[in-house]
Amino acid sequence: MNPNPGNSKSGTSPAAGTHGALADVPMIYPARNCPVCSSTGKRRLFRQSFGSLSQGSLLPGFDLVVCADCGAGYADDVPGQEAFDRYYAEMSKYEYSDRAGVQTETDLSRFREVADLVAPHLKKDDRLLDIGCATGGLLAEFKRRGFASLFGVDPSAACAKLTEKLYGIPARALSISTLNQLNKPADVAFLTGVLEHVRDVDASLDSVKSCLSEGGHIYFEVPDATRYDHHFSAPFQLLSMEHVNYFSPTSLNNLMARHGFSVVFTKRLIRHLSPQAIEPAIGALYRRDSAGKNSFQIGRDDETERALEQYIQQSRDLEEKIQEKIAALVEAAKPLAVWGAGTHTLRLLETSRLSQARIVCFIDSNVHYQGKTLAGVPVVAPSAVPNLAAEILISSQTAEHEIFQVITEKLRWPGVVHRLYGGSI
Ligand SMILES: [Zn+2]
Repeated sequence: MNPNPGNSKSGTSPAAGTHGALADVPMIYPARNCPVCSSTGKRRLFRQSFGSLSQGSLLPGFDLVVCADCGAGYADDVPGQEAFDRYYAEMSKYEYSDRAGVQTETDLSRFREVADLVAPHLKKDDRLLDIGCATGGLLAEFKRRGFASLFGVDPSAACAKLTEKLYGIPARALSISTLNQLNKPADVAFLTGVLEHVRDVDASLDSVKSCLSEGGHIYFEVPDATRYDHHFSAPFQLLSMEHVNYFSPTSLNNLMARHGFSVVFTKRLIRHLSPQAIEPAIGALYRRDSAGKNSFQIGRDDETERALEQYIQQSRDLEEKIQEKIAALVEAAKPLAVWGAGTHTLRLLETSRLSQARIVCFIDSNVHYQGKTLAGVPVVAPSAVPNLAAEILISSQTAEHEIFQVITEKLRWPGVVHRLYGGSI
């Protein structure tokens, strides 16, 4: 079965509206239909660009578009689902390898909040399945509350193993597209921080439904694109390389109605990514309707396009200030070590003069980046810092404060540290 009818032909980017200069960029990948209503009509708001790691990079950029019919936001010009599955299996940053899989207090309070929201709607003997369980923290919270039938799946084999090791909860290494390998249906499936990453949304939901009981529930948590403009972070940071769907409460409800689910609740939440950075989110519980009940209506989403346009403008304004700081570092021409080899840096290499700086190395605590190169420069571990003969630029908004503390307090680095957000150069 082809899970994406109509997606098999290549195309060019749609007319870009007010950003006409972008209209002629040829697309690399086959065009996507709207993940919410399947329409092919779309309007492009922005072209997001990333640099690329020497190995393991997911995509060079994407078109941020809104559906002309239902108003949902999504990324177009992205590779196939198998590329995402491979990326998450190999490049998982959710193994917490530097903390032996143990979550932070921020993570734990998020798990408690999800359990507070969902548990009142469940029965104690319900079978709970966490899809994309990372190291099992959410299931462990339900275990503490007396739920006994728990199971986790995660594309990363290391995460599945840690779930069993840390909490004694069974888990398997499966991607969202291979859930039909599970032989026991779940009564409740959790997808927190998953659906925004999925390219083939219909196929993935069909896969989830294949292991969900009649009348079963799905709890989703996804970023809320309609509030990106209220909770500002680094420029364009919320248009992440890994996010290909930009949901609103309306578009999530539309999607689930089309898949035969009724809304139990939809809540707007605030998620802490770090003590300094927050991301607006939607938490929503849906119940599977009994077979045969398939009348639904797609409601028009009037919020997403306006909010994304606002967010893009805010990002442009802040980016201008950051580009001035980077230009000053380029002019100073001193050896520079850039801390951070993730999305934030990839974007700066493409959009600022950072690549013209005298970069001697990139520093990153993610072991999957270490030993690789970025823009021809090695990515090294934080342990290399004491031997550095360079100034350090912290290239992160979400973790800027935390990294600054590591450099100055833990590593006792006496040299110059440049910050793009909190501190001045
Ligand atoms: Zn649509």
